[in-house]
This record gives sequence, C-alpha cells and structure tokens, in this order.
Amino acid sequence: MKKHNFSAGPCILPRVAIENAAAAVLDLNGIGLSLIEISHRTKDFEAVIDEATNLFRELLQIPDNYKILWLGGGASMQFCMVPFNLLNKKAGYANTGVWAKKAMKEAKIFGEVVEVASSEDKNNTYIPKGYTIPTDLDYFHITTNNTIFGTEYQTDIDCPVNLVADMSSDILSRPVDVSKYALIYGGAQKNMGPAGVTFVIVREDILGKVERAIPTMLDYRTHIKEGSMFNTPPVFPIFVVKETLKWLKSIGGVPAINKINVAKAKLLYDEIERNSCFASPVAVEDRSLMNIPFIYSEKCKDTDPALFLDFAKSKGMVGLKGHRLVGGFRASTYNALPMESVQALVECMQEFEKSVCK
Ligand code: PLP
Repeated sequence: MKKHNFSAGPCILPRVAIENAAAAVLDLNGIGLSLIEISHRTKDFEAVIDEATNLFRELLQIPDNYKILWLGGGASMQFCMVPFNLLNKKAGYANTGVWAKKAMKEAKIFGEVVEVASSEDKNNTYIPKGYTIPTDLDYFHITTNNTIFGTEYQTDIDCPVNLVADMSSDILSRPVDVSKYALIYGGAQKNMGPAGVTFVIVREDILGKVERAIPTMLDYRTHIKEGSMFNTPPVFPIFVVKETLKWLKSIGGVPAINKINVAKAKLLYDEIERNSCFASPVAVEDRSLMNIPFIYSEKCKDTDPALFLDFAKSKGMVGLKGHRLVGGFRASTYNALPMESVQALVECMQEFEKSVCK
C-alpha cells in the first residue's frame, strides 16, 4: 500500500535525494569508495559541502555578508550557542511554545531574558502581535514556525535590534528576506535533510561582541574560519541536504515550492473547516503552512482519537498523531510531501465523516 508520510520530523524527503544518497553510500561518484568511508578533507567531500552551501545561498538568496555553517548538535544546541555568542546583558524572546521556551531557558544561563511577547494564555494557538521590542536588547529571538502548535509568522518582522530566528520547521518553505535577520538556525530534519546536521546563517559583524570566553567548539567564529570543518562534519546528512537542495532548485526553487505549499495547506484547512467531525484550534491568520494540527469538533468530541488514527492508518497515512499538548491530530505538510498525499488525507477525512463518525 502506498504510504502518505505526515510525520513532523524526521519526515518525508524527496525520493530522488534518498536514492542518490543511497547510491553515494555504496559508491561516491564512481570512485569505488563509500561516501561514509572517505576523509571529509578529500576533494570529493569538499565538493559536496561547497555545493550544499552554494545551493542554500542561491535558493534562499542569502547575502554575501552572511556565513553559512553546517554543525552538529541540532537546533537544541543553538538554544545555547546563540546566547553564548550574542548575549552580553539582556535578550528578548517571543514565547510561542515549547521550542521557544526551551531556547529561553538556555539563554537565562547567560544573562537577563525578557519575555517580550507570549501566546501562552491561549495554549500558543496564535502568534503575538502589537508589542514593542525594547531597543536595549542584545537580540530578539523568534521561532518562525511552531511545529507543535501549528502557528507561523506570515511575514519577516521589523525589529530594532538583531533578530535571531529558529527556522527549523519552515526553512525554504517560503521566501525570506534574510537581511532582516542577524542569525537564522535550525535542525535540517524537516525541509532540508535527515537529522544530524544543523544549519546556521549568521551575519559576521554581530560576532565577537560578548565579554565571556567561549569554548572553541561553541564559538561561531571557529566554524566560520574553518569552513564548518573544524571537526569532522556530519558527512552523510550534508550529502542528503545537497541532494534535497538540488531537487528544490530543479522544481523552481522557493517561490515555486511556496505556491505548492500554499495550495496543499489550503486544501487541508478548507476540509478541516468543512468537515463536521474536525476543527482547527489555531487562529486563522497565524496558521502554519508546514504543521497543521486538527482536533475533533464539538460533535465528535467524545470519540477516541484512535478511531480516526486507525482508520487513517488503514489507508496508508503515517505520522498523524497530534502532539500531547494539543491532542487530536497533526498533518505535517513539508516541502517533499506531494499534493497527492494531502488529497488522500482529505478523502480519508470525508469518508470518516460519512461512514465512521456520522
Ligand atoms: N525548534 C523547532 C521549531 C523544532 O521543531 C525542533 C524539533 O522538532 C527543535 C527546535 C529541536 O530540534 P533538534 O531536535 O534538532 O534539536
């Protein structure tokens, strides 16, 4: 049976990227050696990391005064690397959910942290607006897409201080004006590749301003100086990133995928609104293109979520269980998820309404 993979991350990747990576694991470029058994300092691997970096710069239109780094440690490591490198006295955070809170927790180790805005009062079902960002902050941190709660900033905000963004779950899903940010980071394991590599886009002039000593491995300047090769980089994930970016370029880049993402999300949100069994907990204007949580409507509120999950599973749907903080269901509609999978989910929801939860 064909599977439809709605997992929140790690998640669906372009099939061609997986096939090319599998081939490279067996034999990289016909050199008779595997990608994972050659030195990262060979020209064969240097070509891989250079191509990944160049494609990322081209696809997201990253200006020349920004460096691109490929690191280990996941986005969670950036929760501490960001304040380690940037927080002298005071930083501001928008608290839009679990990941933002985890980032704030780490920052508090390094200095004062101001919660400039929060959506906690309504279980993070919206993106806060209408607040003023203090001008005495070393930086202001946002999570552009809240993977668990399904909220997303729809535009790049104006910010009077250095803007730092966790874009783990919406990177490359929509055009971004990188020049509005001082630093952007994320784990690759949604729109870019497998788990194991973390991207950082950093404007170099913001570094070197904190008074504390920074351990070598946690200092962005180390990785800039060494071209992400200070230590052994995660070679396999970087290869898959390169292949995923090649695929994205081949289908028309970020503007093209954004159109598809908008169409996929519209199809699903429209069905959630129409279907008498389901409802969306998220404010209409802040709904994510990437993670779409939905719950049972009033009519079906006493129904066991397993009923829909099992029904969906019998039709090949994978990864639809909602996060425990939201409940219900969540469909992640990342770049590589085809429209056909969203259509299949919509049909499954319609059938559920007609014949299961009438
Ligand atoms: N930030 C966001 C928005 C996420 O969705 C996640 C993971 O899902 C993380 C951070 C944590 O990423 P990692 O597991 O790479 O540390």
